[in-house]
Amino acid sequence: MILIFLGPPGSGKGTQAKVLAEKFGVPHISLGDILRDEVKRATEIGKRAKDFMAAGRLVPDELTIELADKRISQADCRPGFIFDGFPRSAAQADALDGMFKQKNLTIDRVIYFNVSEEETVKRLLMRAGIEGRADDNAASIRTRFEVYEKTTRPLIEHYAKMGKLLEIDAARSIEAIGRDLAKI
Ligand code: AMP
Repeated sequence: MILIFLGPPGSGKGTQAKVLAEKFGVPHISLGDILRDEVKRATEIGKRAKDFMAAGRLVPDELTIELADKRISQADCRPGFIFDGFPRSAAQADALDGMFKQKNLTIDRVIYFNVSEEETVKRLLMRAGIEGRADDNAASIRTRFEVYEKTTRPLIEHYAKMGKLLEIDAARSIEAIGRDLAKI
């Protein structure tokens, strides 16, 4: 089972990806988590990514594509995986198509978490108080939305054309969304 979770920041895709990955017994691959770990360990990638992340901008494609490729090549991904927050740009989506072709993998579904900016900003500001993430401040949140609208949103069309897209109403409660996803 190979799933891609697509949606704006704060749409709840990370929360749901975690639950569903556990249910299917496959890894939940969050590029954001992988990048935060690189920053924490002060690796070369982490040092290059840090400022982009704090500002709410996308980390350069060549870094994320390499991290994604490495991660899905690991043995625990053989039964499948859930990508959360990758791809986020046309270049990443093209790279992913190429990677999958080469590895003989196919995407089962791309789940699009549809929710308004107003609702997600509310959630992100609440999370800022709980998790203290460096990029959960008003300025970074605004940038992350701009980046999402301009660079990530076009992927919805890309995957709709491929016949892979499944849209869910992500404005509802965690439980209600979880019930929908459990039917996949
Ligand atoms: P997230 O935890 O998914 O909200 O990601 C946090 C931050 O990590 C983003 O705002 C970006 O700076 C960076 N990031 C995560 N995934 C990607 C990606 N696929 N491409 C580029 N940057 C990413």
